[in-house]
Amino acid sequence: MQIMTLIEDNLKDNPATGSHPPPGSNFIRAIIEEDNRAGKWNGRVETRFPPEPNGYLHIGHAKSICLNFGLAHDYNGICHLRFDDTNPEKEEQEYVDSIRDSVRWLGYDWGSHQHYASDYFDKLYEFAEYLIKQGKAYVDSLTADEIRALRGTLSEAGTNSPYRERSMTENLDLFRRMKAGEFPDGAHVLRVRIDMSSPNINLRDPVIYRIRHSYHHRTASKWCIYPMYDYTHCISDALERITHSLCTLEFEDHRPLYDWILDELAEVVPCHPQQIEFARLNLTYSVMSKRKLIELVENGLVDGWDDPRMNTLAGVRRRGYTPESIRLFAERIGVSKADSWIEMSVLEDCLRHDLNERATRRLAVLEPLKVVIDNYPENHEEECFAPNHPQKLELGTRTVHLSKIIYIERSDFMEAPSKGYFRLSPGMEVRLRYAYIVKCVNVVKNADGEVVQIHCTYDPGSKSGTPGADQRKVKGNIHWLSAKHARQAEVRLYDRLFSHAHPDAGEQDYKTFLNPNSRKVITAYVEPSLYQIQPEDRFQFERHGYFIADARVTTPEKPVFNRAVTLRDSWIKASG
Ligand code: ATP
Ligand code: MG
Repeated sequence: MQIMTLIEDNLKDNPATGSHPPPGSNFIRAIIEEDNRAGKWNGRVETRFPPEPNGYLHIGHAKSICLNFGLAHDYNGICHLRFDDTNPEKEEQEYVDSIRDSVRWLGYDWGSHQHYASDYFDKLYEFAEYLIKQGKAYVDSLTADEIRALRGTLSEAGTNSPYRERSMTENLDLFRRMKAGEFPDGAHVLRVRIDMSSPNINLRDPVIYRIRHSYHHRTASKWCIYPMYDYTHCISDALERITHSLCTLEFEDHRPLYDWILDELAEVVPCHPQQIEFARLNLTYSVMSKRKLIELVENGLVDGWDDPRMNTLAGVRRRGYTPESIRLFAERIGVSKADSWIEMSVLEDCLRHDLNERATRRLAVLEPLKVVIDNYPENHEEECFAPNHPQKLELGTRTVHLSKIIYIERSDFMEAPSKGYFRLSPGMEVRLRYAYIVKCVNVVKNADGEVVQIHCTYDPGSKSGTPGADQRKVKGNIHWLSAKHARQAEVRLYDRLFSHAHPDAGEQDYKTFLNPNSRKVITAYVEPSLYQIQPEDRFQFERHGYFIADARVTTPEKPVFNRAVTLRDSWIKASG
């Protein structure tokens, strides 16, 4: 499989703000434009995003959402949100709500077009009776195992069920009694009569109805028979008059069944959408199957569905991703017919790209080291001015106070500097960002030999922003906070959830690749202005990365920050 790192082509305009690729720029657009030229749908473009409400949406779904809603938007069409709820045991209202939230958060609106497959249960039943009457469906009374055993293999044809030739009357009677609840689960199924020797196993008389005495989240106990996905999906598309039914490649072999069912029902459902398959998103350092995501949640390996390390949309949102960055990602990766892996760094770069433009800059010292400026007057403090955005001066400046004792980042001091280290070390000078040049004159250590405090002197003529002062250049430029003014805040340093690029590709259980360092909680010092913020406000902590005020626990009295992404990709070596 091809590994994709960056596609720069789509970046020439500014996709984060909603521009879209030129016409015909992917094969689906080419199909739509050809259909429009030929007048196939009278210029109508109607798509749908059809999640099963059995889990939270993940970043893979975002690809499908952006594609379906994006195409509808670009061709003045409509995109439906359809809950594909044919599986009563696994579906819940919580999932429906979270799916609606996530699609809306991504910036899409389905208007009045919210549907449920369960809205069509009556019709689906009616069409099943129609197929029976046409001699195209029969009730089979084999067990699931027996049906499987007769299905054949890729190289061997299947065998007809002994019940395949039941009379139409008997089939209808049995099917009605299945519906009436006369039989236990598994006693009978309804199958379509296609061809047990078809080279395509999906066409070997697939089951379209099964008995399930289960409570359904919307139809309650009305039904004890439920239609199967393949049967339901094409009919739901047709009833909603979908024009282009986009799905992932694993459904390619199901397309003949999709078409067979709609052809057989042409008289009663006069619409036949076109199924078009595209490659699903595979993202390195993550798992994309709902079953595995549920397992992570249920086993407490993460803190719920919106744990900032999860690749659910609720998770990436809490992590600090913006809807714009996800839409940019969908645009950068494009759509194709070939399966590929997308590097996690592509997703992370999209966030950097978006937040670099938009995030206000702030100072935070994550791992503090105390510095005393010996020649700075006691009890004195002064204002320094820091731009809110280095390129967007119209966003103004903020005041950062300086006083005699400050904190710098521990990593900005080295007692014995390595070659090329231009930050603080004994006898060396650095500029305190937006303030003065300081020189390290002394180092204080504890009994273990660990540096606990350093002493500097400052050059009073070197203050940033005063005429002439910036001319005196020093190589290092570090951030700092006045000890007297800085405030403490909890900061959660998140990293990738898995330390292996393909956690579920090999023999080993994907859970063994969980990254033990995916979350580190620290108490940092931050600018006082970071206390007057709202949940979900995003900032760049200078030299550290992009951070978001956690949506769940941030209050004005106690901000808590999640690191969304570092400023640079620290995984390049690891994944190379
Ligand atoms: P499961 O993991 O249970 O098979 P699913 O991921 O297929 O579920 P659905 O709710 O059926 O989940 O998905 C809704 C839509 O999202 C489908 O049209 C599906 O093709 C699409 N989709 C799901 N995963 C991806 C992915 N990784 N990339 C692109 N589209 C996806
Ligand atoms: Mg699915």
